[in-house]
Amino acid sequence: RILSSQKIFLNDELVEKSEAKISVFDHGFLYGDGIFEGIRAYNGRIFRFEEHIKRLYESAKAIMLDIPMTPEEMKEAVIETIKANELEDAYIRLVVSRGVGDLGLDPNKCDKATVIIIASDITLYPEEFYQNGLEVVTVPTRRNIPEALNPRIKSLNYLNNILAKIEANQAGVLEAIMLNNEGYVAECTGDNIFIVKDGVLMTPPTYIGALKGIKRGVVLEVAEELGLEVKEEVFTRHDIFVADECFLSGTAAEVIPVIKVDGRVIGEGSPGDYTKKLIKEFRKKAETTGTPIYSK
Ligand code: PMP
Repeated sequence: RILSSQKIFLNDELVEKSEAKISVFDHGFLYGDGIFEGIRAYNGRIFRFEEHIKRLYESAKAIMLDIPMTPEEMKEAVIETIKANELEDAYIRLVVSRGVGDLGLDPNKCDKATVIIIASDITLYPEEFYQNGLEVVTVPTRRNIPEALNPRIKSLNYLNNILAKIEANQAGVLEAIMLNNEGYVAECTGDNIFIVKDGVLMTPPTYIGALKGIKRGVVLEVAEELGLEVKEEVFTRHDIFVADECFLSGTAAEVIPVIKVDGRVIGEGSPGDYTKKLIKEFRKKAETTGTPIYSK
């Protein structure tokens, strides 16, 4: 949905979308030098707000980026932006780039970070795939190795994930499974991955090179509440082929079942029982437990 009138938070004020402009010398644009967060609000509540803000400041620390606002100020700015757009349900994109510099890549030349907050919505996959499950493929492009650009940093540098997405599209599907450099399953282009085998829920540990997804954490939490056995362990493509169930988690995608991987039908070829149960509980948490935007 393209909104004609929309208020965007840019640096320290709300501006009309048509006025929300950034310099061509911003290093976020020139070099992908920056970080971001994707946050969701449901029913007038921001889901896992603290965790997203915390991860933003951790990403900033890792790339030695000074955010010119305190976490408290950042939270207020997010709330202010949602309110200005009168939203109850929203997808919020928070971007902090190194700011305006010269054409060299030295971040010391950038005086002040650029802060952008967009409160809008997002639809990653058509509704039918949430009902019937998604087909995915593994792709040749590997996830960044942690020793180069650590995937635990939510940086603006998504080019290898974009290449993976292109490879998935070339294969006629909407999402790609990315392996790490050793060939273990890492994650998808913007989602974490889970399998269920013999009643055990498995997801790769993030140190192998995956983002520590906040919705991944919610899924693990919900699974434990349901009494499911949970393992954070490395696994391979083969483990997915022979899994009973498979699904993805992410703020934009939420939780989406996967029913086919590299042409192999997973389980019964329809969303599994554990997956459906986890989706139901995930939604319940999302809709009832967030930080209220409009205090009574
Ligand atoms: N992996 C990657 C590469 C991502 O970009 C994201 C977020 N879009 C995720 C996983 C999921 O993280 P979260 O649950 O915090 O949205």
